[in-house]
Amino acid sequence: EPALYVVATPIGNLQDMTPRAIEVLQQVELIAAEDTRHSARLMAHCGIDTRLVSVHEHNERQRIETIVHQLQSGASVALISDAGTPLISDPGYVVVKGVREAGFRVVPVPGCVAFITALSAAGLPTDRFVFEGFLPHKSSGRKQQLKGLIGESRTLIFYESPHRILASLKDMRDVFGGERVVAVARELTKTYETIHVDQLTPLIEWMEADSNQQRGEFVVLVHGVETKGEVLLDAKALEVLDILLAELP
Ligand code: SAM
Repeated sequence: EPALYVVATPIGNLQDMTPRAIEVLQQVELIAAEDTRHSARLMAHCGIDTRLVSVHEHNERQRIETIVHQLQSGASVALISDAGTPLISDPGYVVVKGVREAGFRVVPVPGCVAFITALSAAGLPTDRFVFEGFLPHKSSGRKQQLKGLIGESRTLIFYESPHRILASLKDMRDVFGGERVVAVARELTKTYETIHVDQLTPLIEWMEADSNQQRGEFVVLVHGVETKGEVLLDAKALEVLDILLAELP
């Protein structure tokens, strides 16, 4: 049965390509890739010679047609992005939705996600978290977005580029305060992988003191607000509450 396979690729270390991902990419008729030139390197590394076609935010809608035609002819297609899992701050949502609506099977082939990788090693709470993707590029928009997250008790996760990492951290300091604990995960799975955890004020000083720490790709994790205001009722209080609740109409 033909299907669209949504295949995760590495976020840096090519060894993180899974055997199943390689097998699927070899066996499908066509690979829809965010940037075909970029993916050609991975294909060569893994010995895959399947035909590549580009899918990016500007042609996603047209590509549904190409992909659905393939599926109708009985051939399977794979979808990949430049790094990690497609659809996660990457193209693919429009294609997946369109292919499902056309009645075809969509099969996930899981692997790397940069923010899950960061979360697994940063030592910030992982029981509840919020993925916010990229913040707005301009400081005014960024601060506005951050203000909406001031009271958030779950771990906040952002993607950031080297061009804006310092400016974003400074905006976070202005909005959340210099004492908020933040983890910066840089160049995950690559040679200069660094995971640094500190309060915002010393973290920014540390990054400013070493321009190397401003290079590469970043996941920023912000500790949620401690819910110390949470009311934990003791047994006696619960008993009284039960009596009062029984009196309610
Ligand atoms: N689809 C990808 C995923 O599954 O995580 C995300 C793609 S998004 C366009 C690229 C952003 O992801 C980068 O700007 C950075 O914030 C984050 N990222 C990707 N690879 C990373 C890495 N090796 N280390 C740290 N962050 C990374």
